[in-house]
Amino acid sequence: KAEPSTTTNGPAAAPKGPRIIAVGSGKGGVGKSTLSANLAVALARMGRRVGLVDADIYGPSQARLLGTEGQRATAHEGRLVPVESRWGVPALSMAHLSNAGQAIAWRGPKISGALLQLVEGHWDGAEVLIVDLPPGTGDVQLTMLQRCKPAGAVIVSTPQDLALIDATRAVELFEKGGVPVIGVVENMAGYACPHCGEVSDPFGCGGAEASAQEMGVPFLGRIPLDIAIRREGDAGTPTAAGTGPQADAFTALAAGVAA
Ligand code: ADP
Repeated sequence: KAEPSTTTNGPAAAPKGPRIIAVGSGKGGVGKSTLSANLAVALARMGRRVGLVDADIYGPSQARLLGTEGQRATAHEGRLVPVESRWGVPALSMAHLSNAGQAIAWRGPKISGALLQLVEGHWDGAEVLIVDLPPGTGDVQLTMLQRCKPAGAVIVSTPQDLALIDATRAVELFEKGGVPVIGVVENMAGYACPHCGEVSDPFGCGGAEASAQEMGVPFLGRIPLDIAIRREGDAGTPTAAGTGPQADAFTALAAGVAA
C-alpha cells in the first residue's frame, strides 16, 4: 500500500534566505542609515548572524558608516558577494559597486533591479538582513514590498511634526503591503550640550511615541542627538561597536527589533 506523501502534505518548507527587516523613514536626514548601521552592529555583537543592504541606491552611505569605503563587491555564479566590515557585518551597497561619488540617475525598473541584486547576494549563513531603504515611498519601497517580502519594518523619525507626518505615510505603506511594522524609533530626541550639560530639544520630544500610539504600532525607543554619533558615523566606527550610553541605547533597540 502506498504511503501518503509527506512532501506535499507536510508543513511548508522553511523560507529560504535571511529574515529581512526593512528600515524606512518618511523623510531623509532623520538618521535612518545611522540607525540601520548601528542596529546591524548591535545585533552582530549580540551574536546574531546579520547582513546589511544599503538600498539607498541614489545616496548610499553604508560604506562610509561601516568603514568599508574603497572595498569592492565581487560576483560569484551571477550573484554579488558582500564585502566584510570590521564589525562582523557583511554589507552590500551601490558604493561597493560604483566609483565613489559617482552620481546615479536611473529610472524605476533599473533601480528595482539594483535592489534585487543587493538583496539576493550571497548572504549565506545570515539569519537577519537589515535593509536601509531610501526615504519616502517610491520604487525601491514598492519593489521591497512586492518582491522581497520583508518580515517586518522599522520606521525612523525625528520628533518633529513634519517628519512624523511623513513617517505615518511610511507606516501605512508597509501595513497596506502586508508587512508588519515592528515599531517606530525616535531619533535626534533631546540634545545634551557637551559644554554645560543642559538638555534641549531641537526637534521637540516625544512626538514619535505619541504618533506610534495613534497609529497603534509599537514604540521601540529613542536615540538622542549626540555629536559622538555623528562623528563615529563619519569615521566608520559605529557607535554600537563601542561602549557608553548610546551604544547601550542601540543595543536595547536591536533587542526590540529582532525579538
Ligand atoms: P538618513 O539615512 O535618514 O538620511 P543619516 O543616517 O544619513 O540619515 O543621518 C543624517 C545626518 O545626521 C548624518 O550626518 C548623521 O551622522 C547624523 N545623525 C543621525 N543620527 C544622529 C544622532 N542621533 N545624533 C547625532 N547625529 C546624528
